[in-house]
Amino acid sequence: MNANTLLLRLEGPLQSWGNHESKFVIRRTGEAPTKSGVVGLLCAALKISRIAARERLPKLNSLAMAVRVDRPGVRWWDYHTVGARMQMRIAECEGKTKPGAMLTRREYLCDASFLVALQGDPELLVAARQALLNPAWPIFLGRKSCPPSLPLLGRNDESDTGDFPDLSSAISSVPWRPRLVGDERPERVECLLEWRPSANEPEAPADAEVWYDVAQSFDVQSHQPRFVIRKQLTVGDGKNVSIGSPRQTKTPAPPRARADYRNSEYRAARKSRLDADQGLCVFCKAPAGTVQHITYRHAGGGETQDDLRSLCRLCHDAVTMIEYGLGMGLDRINPEDPKWRDKIIAKRDEIVAFRSMETRRRRLSPEEVE
Ligand SMILES: [Zn+2]
Repeated sequence: MNANTLLLRLEGPLQSWGNHESKFVIRRTGEAPTKSGVVGLLCAALKISRIAARERLPKLNSLAMAVRVDRPGVRWWDYHTVGARMQMRIAECEGKTKPGAMLTRREYLCDASFLVALQGDPELLVAARQALLNPAWPIFLGRKSCPPSLPLLGRNDESDTGDFPDLSSAISSVPWRPRLVGDERPERVECLLEWRPSANEPEAPADAEVWYDVAQSFDVQSHQPRFVIRKQLTVGDGKNVSIGSPRQTKTPAPPRARADYRNSEYRAARKSRLDADQGLCVFCKAPAGTVQHITYRHAGGGETQDDLRSLCRLCHDAVTMIEYGLGMGLDRINPEDPKWRDKIIAKRDEIVAFRSMETRRRRLSPEEVE
């Protein structure tokens, strides 16, 4: 094999891809596999320990990643208690503590199916593929309680590898995977493509998202950002497809806000929040691309409009980064609270500076970013 792309199928009853919003008492899952999760999976297969990962991560992170969401799955909460018999100190009111158990909630994607493309150094991909066919340690889909329900790779015919000019042709080369025989193939499937600067495209597109999921170390959690472009691509039905002969099936992506949940109550709360905010970011008044939880007290479907605020992508990224740094619990940042104003502005500036550094360009104006 001398191919530049390896294609993996990630499918199982449960998956959970922790992102930077998934810390502490509420462990959320992202909507799709994260780069750190997929690289962690390769480390398990390759027998790379947490300590050894420090040196091996830069090479593994050099692989560009795309994810195709063949089935987004359904979000589900699992309720945990930690330290029930250990008389753990838990918070009471007025700054006091009492013995008890800490309540945590973990979120999963049930019955999701993702296709992942990793593109880069052919030698590294050969080693990764060999390891995935015969993994040194068990591999799991984001969390140890989430085993895959079928092999990640195709059979030994190397049909899971190919040479492709770019990630979008690689990710659209594989037939869509139905849940049941007779399921109808959607016209387009959502794809999340890692973006990097090139001679043709030195500057990140305005709709690029910043994902903080490039692990620098697994023993101390620390993540760097990367750009992700969301596209709706048409994919084959499996009838005239052979991997290795790239199909150029790019179609322009319609503008679309990120759907964090498919739950109908949540969708209703989200819509009423966006309406109440006239579809504008409550912080900077740019068009809102998402809504943010200011509290997780009713998260998972019981949200009301008051629990949410509309934000543009840039302000959303700034707010979630600040929350990540502070290790907040159920109550999150309310971007309308004046006490956060300076911090959000500073973090927005940091993100804009990161974008311009990444694209080796002078600083973009906020209008261009949004
Ligand atoms: Zn904004």
